Amino acid sequence: MKWLVTAVMMTVLLLANPVAAEWYRHDFNVMGTSASVELWSENQQQADLLIAQVVAEMERINQLLSPYIESSELYRVNQLAATEAQNISPEFYWLLQRSIDFSKLSQGAFDITFASVGYRFQYRESVAPSEEFIQQHKALIDFRSIELNEAGQVKFSKPNTRIDLGGIAKGYAVDRCIELLQKAQVAHAFVKAGGDSRVLGDKRGRLWTIGIQHPRQPGAVLTQLPLENVAISTSGDYERFFIKNGERVHHIIDPTTGHSANKSISVTILANDSTTADALSTTVFILGPERGLKLIETLNNVSAIIIDSKGQFHYSSDLQPQ
Ligand code: ADP
Ligand code: MG
Repeated sequence: MKWLVTAVMMTVLLLANPVAAEWYRHDFNVMGTSASVELWSENQQQADLLIAQVVAEMERINQLLSPYIESSELYRVNQLAATEAQNISPEFYWLLQRSIDFSKLSQGAFDITFASVGYRFQYRESVAPSEEFIQQHKALIDFRSIELNEAGQVKFSKPNTRIDLGGIAKGYAVDRCIELLQKAQVAHAFVKAGGDSRVLGDKRGRLWTIGIQHPRQPGAVLTQLPLENVAISTSGDYERFFIKNGERVHHIIDPTTGHSANKSISVTILANDSTTADALSTTVFILGPERGLKLIETLNNVSAIIIDSKGQFHYSSDLQPQ
């Protein structure tokens, strides 16, 4: 009988104890992509609340930065900044500054004014602008025409300039969500938006494993990386693309040509924060393995895995097998 009494007592104890230390996960859609949050919590109510806050934070950033939502700051800036300096939030100002920093770092490979040509690509409808349009508008891809003044405003020095933060926004959103979890004392978490992920701590005694998508087999994972406390971002030519006259037309635009960048098929960047990893994955994708790795080697705590247009792998020196 003794074991039965013990078993009954344990059941009672469990019922009386509302603390449920476990993993909580939620998958959702935002910014036209799939997002996830996973966290360890000792309290279900706290976990539910934090998950709701992460979803709300991603949606808030979407409402701020979407090029399609007419009430977004970005939409208004694209409509009006060439005519008159626009007041913008400190947050948006900071993101523009960061974007310009990456333009300078990459000698113009990362350039949010790519959208001056890029807005005419419609990947779902397999529509690309004419060669004539690209040649006429290519000169508008120039981050130097974004003027940020001390009053916290932005102005475009050339008419018809457009910006798009698609190369940095998801990473930024992931950082904001990780920050929110850190402030709530969460020690183990994973946040992902599209190809941008960041992990907080480890997976309680184990490492997190993050898969890199196979660039030519949809849904297949190329490799799994064991990670802790790091941001990882992959840019690929397989996310949004169509084939036209035998050529792959995709969503990463080389500012020097106005066409899809063609030196890489997949670039993965590891960095301390997701904003950096996101911007650099797009940047290195455009630069290609040679110039891309040269740039990465100048940066602290940044690693790269590049698959070039021939399918060959290139690694930054810190990742190379000894
Ligand atoms: P995603 O996670 O959307 O696949 P990536 O990090 O691979 O994003 O970046 C691709 C996005 O970056 C494009 O959808 C576009 O919004 C933006 N982009 C394209 N070309 C450039 C460029 N030259 N500079 C900055 N951003 C770019
Ligand atoms: Mg990116």
